[in-house]
Amino acid sequence: MTGNITPLIGIDLGTSNSALAWFHDGESQLIAGAEGERLTPSVVGLDDDGHILVGAAAKARLVSHPHLTVASFKRYMGTDKTWTLGTRRFRAEELSALVLRKLKADAEVAFGHEVTRAVITVPAYFNDVQRKAVKAAGQLAGLQVERLLNEPTAAALAYGLADNREQKFLIFDLGGGTFDVSIVDMFEGVIEVRASSGDAWLGGDDFTHALRQWMLSIHPVLSDSPPEQQARLTQLAEALKHQLSQQDVARAQMMHQGEELHWELNEETFGELAAGLLSRLKKPVVQALQDAQFDVGLLDHVILVGGATRMPIVRQLATRMFSRFPRNELNPDEVVALGAGVQAGLIADDHALEDIVLTDVMPYSLGVEVARRDGNRIDEGYFLPLIERNAFVPVSVVRTVSTLQDNQRQLDISVFQGEARRVSDNLLLDSIKIDIPPRKAGEVNLDVRFTYTLDGILEVECKIQGENTASTLIIEKAPGSLSEEEIAVRLSQLNELKQHPRDVPANRLLLAQASARYEQTLGERRQLIDHYVSQFERALESQDLRQIAAARDGLSQLLNQFDDGM
Ligand code: ADP
Ligand code: MG
Repeated sequence: MTGNITPLIGIDLGTSNSALAWFHDGESQLIAGAEGERLTPSVVGLDDDGHILVGAAAKARLVSHPHLTVASFKRYMGTDKTWTLGTRRFRAEELSALVLRKLKADAEVAFGHEVTRAVITVPAYFNDVQRKAVKAAGQLAGLQVERLLNEPTAAALAYGLADNREQKFLIFDLGGGTFDVSIVDMFEGVIEVRASSGDAWLGGDDFTHALRQWMLSIHPVLSDSPPEQQARLTQLAEALKHQLSQQDVARAQMMHQGEELHWELNEETFGELAAGLLSRLKKPVVQALQDAQFDVGLLDHVILVGGATRMPIVRQLATRMFSRFPRNELNPDEVVALGAGVQAGLIADDHALEDIVLTDVMPYSLGVEVARRDGNRIDEGYFLPLIERNAFVPVSVVRTVSTLQDNQRQLDISVFQGEARRVSDNLLLDSIKIDIPPRKAGEVNLDVRFTYTLDGILEVECKIQGENTASTLIIEKAPGSLSEEEIAVRLSQLNELKQHPRDVPANRLLLAQASARYEQTLGERRQLIDHYVSQFERALESQDLRQIAAARDGLSQLLNQFDDGM
């Protein structure tokens, strides 16, 4: 896989697993990591020497070293929560950046050159703060984030290419920790997301948890066992769940104080254990259909996305709920990354994709706080939505608000996100004070314009009617998000993290380039490359920085000489 132009990559940054794709030879293709793995667990940890571990290597230590390993941090994107690993504290953006860096390095090894631009997917439910956090994570990983793409939209893109007829889809995405339902309309190559709904706290991990509780109820002696054994139990619960996707009966065993404990579970019992979770899958589906003003009968396809839809009990439920067999030709845990790859191709303007246009919808409502007059009383704290949930984006909307009091000097425009009637139940994004000329109540009118872009960035413009100047608010410092300065500081801190030299992206890239060269050459040159590569590999294993630098210089000079046609 080599090419001269640097392609964009598409990334599914998942709660449990992340994946990477690019658009090549007219289709979106997954890019595997160094060990051939197609999914990278979104897990970060430290090894015994204090080196950062990312992906499968970190996940493997979740059980043995729970205090040195962090998982499921995507749930906390855009919050101030931190995790301590060794001597350092990390925010969710930084942990995500480490996963993104690994994917970036995997792509660089596959392509043989640097990659700097990416499309990253986000759950449709992510709010403004969370979206900005994903962009910050990209920046921290050295990636220019060209577009944030809703995950269900990505799934529609991955499937949409297969067929260009007019059709309506429902995307049923059950991942490790989130459930998203979206209704997508496709016609003449246009893809529209008509509605999104979901449950941000429901996923395959909850099924694992239900199984774990059941395992404890069978062998209560395990309740007081040490943390390592508790973690092992979770792992066994996960294994039971996976087995049941392949066979009717699943088994597990574990040693406890010299005694062997056994479990045996069939699909029927699993269905009973998970009944509560399964029933929670219905409400978001009904909500999305209602928002889109669609009837189930109008749907042409139901598409299963997310690793947890591999569970037969989930598939059966979907089949019953929609009175049809859902589609699952693509691996459910790879669909979103494949769609991100399509979007990357669109941005790179691959001609195979000329006919596809993408529109999207707002995942939540945005508006301002207003007061209402009730006789002599002024009642404050009401939400006036300007852009409503499921409006098509990009979108620009203007509404006029007026003064309620005589000789008012200032208008406070507070921007909120949410669905509640009272602003106190919504999320405050930012506010701006506008000086106004003192007049009688109702005589000063202010036009408030909300402009929302495909990236999920909101611009608020306020203009007093009859005047020429406008005040603009770009919501930069939302609660829980990082400023540019903070990003710069954290970037340098991340760069100082100890990484095993063999994992350092520049070293991995050089080795990949050298192997590609080795394959292309013959005879003496081949031996020369082999010699320098071996030397470099030995240096990397020694972890001696001076030795590594010398061997790296030697190898790259050799490759440069060959490039110059020597
Ligand atoms: P996310 O989008 O949250 O990163 P994925 O789409 O990768 O997650 O799905 C992860 C979930 O899928 C996990 O809960 C995992 O246990 C579950 N899963 C993956 N493969 C299977 C399987 N064969 N059977 C049942 N569950 C599975
Ligand atoms: Mg996912």
